[in-house]
Amino acid sequence: MAAALAARAAGVRDVLLLERDQHLGGILNQCIHPGFGLHHFKEELTGPQYADRFVRQVREDHGIEVSLRSFAVKLTKDRELSYLRPGALEQVKAGAVILATGCRERTREMIPIPGSRPAGVYPAGLAQKMVNMEGWIPGKEAVIVGSGDIGLIMARRMALEGVKVKGVVEIQAASRGLVRNVVQCLEDFSIPLYLRHRISAIHGRDRVERVSVVRVDDGLKDVPGSGFEMDCDTVLVSVGLIPENELLEMAGADIDRKTNTPVAEKVNLTSVPGVFACGNACRVYDLVDWVTRDSSLAGRMAAEFLGAVPERPGELA
Ligand SMILES: Cc1cc2nc3c(=O)[nH]c(=O)nc-3n(C[C@H](O)[C@H](O)[C@H](O)COP(=O)(O)OP(=O)(O)OC[C@H]3O[C@@H](n4cnc5c(N)ncnc54)[C@H](O)[C@@H]3O)c2cc1C
Repeated sequence: MAAALAARAAGVRDVLLLERDQHLGGILNQCIHPGFGLHHFKEELTGPQYADRFVRQVREDHGIEVSLRSFAVKLTKDRELSYLRPGALEQVKAGAVILATGCRERTREMIPIPGSRPAGVYPAGLAQKMVNMEGWIPGKEAVIVGSGDIGLIMARRMALEGVKVKGVVEIQAASRGLVRNVVQCLEDFSIPLYLRHRISAIHGRDRVERVSVVRVDDGLKDVPGSGFEMDCDTVLVSVGLIPENELLEMAGADIDRKTNTPVAEKVNLTSVPGVFACGNACRVYDLVDWVTRDSSLAGRMAAEFLGAVPERPGELA
């Protein structure tokens, strides 16, 4: 939305905004906690409040056509884009394309955690969507793997919903999340943080019953005799995000295989002329304020590529 608005402000006449979901706003819609907008709006908002400020501006701008439930499925280097909307496969030839497709979550299989494969193991962001948007609580006793911001926020969220959070298990020596989240989400709720520990096995047949935890040394090797078990019926896995760049790859752009981000010298640029990537698709951001800042820049970069000229006040479009 920030990119679309900035492109319009820089003189682009027609902007088509495609969103596969039924709402605009992306991940913000499920982030009902405060902590958004301190830099951009100089006030503390929840995710949906932050998104709403942009949705209103987008709706008021008649040069932005919004198409919801519209899944972009193909992109060529010549900026031909195909998307599926209910009942139709549409094709557009764009002057410039900005990909703001966000991230997907790393899963249990990617760490990997040995043991059986019972129900009750969820990516933390998916659990957040279930709790905050569907009103569905995944279990009664939870262990969280990974102490990035999503893991920390979900520890507090589950505790607030009456789930007993047995602990957050982090293999590194320090949390990867914001200090304020360690304090407000764990310390304030007396949730233990097991640093330099890992889950060595998940147990349970149909449903998770317990996890084995072991301490690791500086080389991340298990410390003999340090293992213990925690009973739980739910494991939330919060072990990082992977930028969604399959469309970019399809268009033939150079992708850094390690980070799944576009290879380019400047933020928002890709190796395909006229195709830009912004927000979490370009790099994983901690704060939405910086996503807005850099995505606005992406809108201006696209306008410059198109040779657009901003309207002067009083001049007809
Ligand atoms: C759990 C969590 C907590 C956070 N807490 C904070 C916080 O407290 N404060 C803060 O400032 N920031 C926080 N952040 C970070 C911030 O919210 C995000 O970095 C930012 O909102 C990402 O925006 P984005 O537009 O890049 O991606 P997203 O919000 O992921 O949006 C991507 C959009 O693209 C759509 N899409 C993807 N592929 C396609 C396709 N092929 N066709 C059509 N549509 C597609 C998706 O449906 C989605 O709507 C948090 C993030 C998470 C996940």
